[in-house]
Amino acid sequence: MTLSAVQWDFASQKAEDNYRRALRRYPAQVVVDLATLRDNMKAMVDRVHAVSPSTAVLGVVKADAYGHGLLPTALAALAGGATWLGTAQSREALLLRQKGVGPDRARIITWLYNGRQDPFDRLISQDIDLAVGSLAGIDAIVRGAQKIGRPARVHVKVDTGFGRNGFTPEEFDQALTRLRQGVDAGQLEVVGQWSHLSVADAPEDPASRRATDDQIALFNEFTDRMKVAGLPPSIRHLANTAATFTRPEIYFELVRPGVGLYGYEPDPVMGTGEDYGLKPAMTLQAQLGTVKNLPAGHSISYGRTYLTEGETSTADLPLGYADGIPRSASGFNRAGALGVDHPGGPVRIMTNQGPRLVRVSGRVCMDQCILDLHGSAEDWGVSEGDTVELFGPGRGEAYAEPTADDWARAAGTISYEIFTCLRNRIPRLYLHAQNVLSAEDVGLLDPTTVI
Ligand SMILES: *Cc1c(COP(=O)(O)O)cnc(C)c1O
Repeated sequence: MTLSAVQWDFASQKAEDNYRRALRRYPAQVVVDLATLRDNMKAMVDRVHAVSPSTAVLGVVKADAYGHGLLPTALAALAGGATWLGTAQSREALLLRQKGVGPDRARIITWLYNGRQDPFDRLISQDIDLAVGSLAGIDAIVRGAQKIGRPARVHVKVDTGFGRNGFTPEEFDQALTRLRQGVDAGQLEVVGQWSHLSVADAPEDPASRRATDDQIALFNEFTDRMKVAGLPPSIRHLANTAATFTRPEIYFELVRPGVGLYGYEPDPVMGTGEDYGLKPAMTLQAQLGTVKNLPAGHSISYGRTYLTEGETSTADLPLGYADGIPRSASGFNRAGALGVDHPGGPVRIMTNQGPRLVRVSGRVCMDQCILDLHGSAEDWGVSEGDTVELFGPGRGEAYAEPTADDWARAAGTISYEIFTCLRNRIPRLYLHAQNVLSAEDVGLLDPTTVI
């Protein structure tokens, strides 16, 4: 008999068949709950509209929607009340249009390109808004607009302190002159102004709060300069998830939350997603490989960094750093070669006495890692083929369910890196498609991914 740490309510027999097929295809699966994505978006839309009913909300779906899957996530975000979508790479913006998210459904903005090679003509013809934050970028967009004889809608990116992309105050006059020329020649429509905050996720820290205040003040100075130049921006946007929750004074015409859509807070110092009415949408599960007994003092994985403390059973977890499991989530113990205790990434397993939390023991390998069960697999009824859960919505202490925040802690990183790094060789499966999306939208999804 195999035990499972996760139970799913399948929408239909076909949905269950899809699930079984995914299990045969790969020993791990990512399950994304579209109802949770929709509800998270709705919670943020409601919060924003309570303060500023005219502010639109953009769902950030860059990096394959933070690993959740671009199209299904975009559709769920729209179902939750987002009217804009944003991607870093222009390729993903085009993909959204190609896969059926037309201009009637959502405005799309893309903000990262090399300024020369990107297909600006196609982006403009697909009605995709473009960020522009460099002089070379203005020229490249103008060339794209000339090519198809249609103006590009641009959002002027200003550097208010992040030091990444965007015009600095020093070069802004020159930028405004060039933008003005583009507008006069019918090549550009300056619709927006935007910037990005660097420390909005530390609202309790006075120095960080001051830094954000300074960024906002500089943002407003840039707006004044645009007005003076005769290029007043009608859509201003500055707020990420952190500011959406803590800075209602900068909602302007548009906010750009990302990680909140996926159910996480930007930084654990802000609490948990639950404190903001959010729930993690992604579950990562896997089926155990070899389960066996080892004597005391037996080394586990590369480098002998973990030695069994007594007679025990171990289970092979068929996910490794080639799947995006961070090697820094390896587990060491004092008896091991490094002589230090470092708890590895947590995994929820099911036993005949209920759920237990065990941890990655020893180094994470390329395709697998090892769990010390701290006891007898036979006694607990744990066997090869059991489904275990690496992280999910985090249903409280008693449920013993880790979240991506727990993995981030074990790996010394942030939740964002945990879910965005999961490779696409792990199948993505979607729950509640029929409950959340119109029949037409369900039809846009890969039907084999719907459970
Ligand atoms: C990623 C990103 C966001 C969203 O940030 P979160 O912290 O995930 O809310 C917003 N704006 C820009 C420009 C981004 O790159």
